[in-house]
Amino acid sequence: MKQPNEDSSLKSIAILGSTGSIGTQALDIISELGSTFNVYGLSAHSNWKRLAEQANYFRPKWVILTDEQYKSSLLNALSYTPERLNFGADSLQLLASAPETDLVLNALVGFAGFTSTYEALKSGNRVALANKESLVVGGELLTELPNFKDNLIPVDSEHSAMWQCLVGETLASVEKIIITASGGPFREYSRDQMKSITVEDALNHPNWEMGKKITIDSSTMMNKGLEIIEAHWLFGIDIDLIEPVIHPQSIIHSIIEFNDGSSKAQMGPPDMKVPILYAISYPERIAYDVPRLDYRKQMNLSFEPIDRIKFPCLQFAVDAVKQGGLLPAVMNAANEVAVGRFLNREIRYIDIPKIIDETLNTFHHKEIASPQMLIEADEESRKFANGLFK
Ligand code: NDP
Ligand code: MG
Repeated sequence: MKQPNEDSSLKSIAILGSTGSIGTQALDIISELGSTFNVYGLSAHSNWKRLAEQANYFRPKWVILTDEQYKSSLLNALSYTPERLNFGADSLQLLASAPETDLVLNALVGFAGFTSTYEALKSGNRVALANKESLVVGGELLTELPNFKDNLIPVDSEHSAMWQCLVGETLASVEKIIITASGGPFREYSRDQMKSITVEDALNHPNWEMGKKITIDSSTMMNKGLEIIEAHWLFGIDIDLIEPVIHPQSIIHSIIEFNDGSSKAQMGPPDMKVPILYAISYPERIAYDVPRLDYRKQMNLSFEPIDRIKFPCLQFAVDAVKQGGLLPAVMNAANEVAVGRFLNREIRYIDIPKIIDETLNTFHHKEIASPQMLIEADEESRKFANGLFK
């Protein structure tokens, strides 16, 4: 592996959530590419050990650990003294809006990522966004920021596919977006079989290796619901024109249908390194050695509709964004709590949609006026969702 150097002509990148699935893959790419990026800042929540290894290798000027209880462990494990070393969640926004960074990769998970996306865009920084929850909860606020259109680049594979298909096109000529879904591990389960799904079953995704939260979201199809909201805000496309479809092979990452009857799809083996690289190198393409498809071999690409009765979370997301205001944030908070509680073995798998439904039924539509209102709605909804099924 080549050691990235400190050349100031390199693209300077801050990675929020560097110890997670997206964060570590991004650092692998950066290390493999050698002299393209300079890692300016890294943040982790609790995994101080991995953060220290990453920091000791890349020597970023700024290091953040948001869970303060591991402060002394991190301090002991660092082999150098970064110029800035912060503990606690508030420092994330400072790094996200730092003028020294050319790009912020937001690879945080959940609502915790919203404020960083907001502050980064507000400061004029460019954001490569993996944290889809930012757009889910605060799409309305983010799209109002003057730099939104130029400075937000998607990392999510489906949205990267859409983005790539739209290069050179106008949004006015888009008739429909087909967003593909692998269907997850329970695509062929009966409703009866779903009653006994364990944590281990749900963490076993057929095509992708990801963090735990998104793996559970993929299995419940909430992930596709979140991604429909993400596409809606990202491209300003009517929610009813974004159609989810199951494509079990995860080769076609999404399709744009244009008004002249033509469609464009973006394809490749399921590998998050491809959309991560595209987002961090955009508008360039950088040569990179990942597995290619072999079209000489027999390959089947199949499509099927999603069973919205068996997977109600998809519809919760669509309905929440149609109602608008704070409801997507309420839905997102209830989902985060339900997924966390399922992973902690406090509730059954089939209780996840019940918790989301009950939480959504309790909160009423309210317009979003500020990020603070989102934070309060998130806190209140979490409290409510945590009190259910005790
Ligand atoms: P992981 O759970 O693997 O990583 C999350 C990262 O965020 C870790 O660095 C973690 O730190 C940090 N983190 C967790 N909680 C907090 C918090 N409360 N405050 C600050 N930092 C926190 O997630 P993924 O990498 O899988 O996903 C990241 C985002 O990317 C999600 O929004 C996901 O939906 C999206 N995404 C992921 C894909 C994937 O393939 N993984 C594909 C497409 C989108 P630590 O580990 O140190 O505790
Ligand atoms: Mg995706």
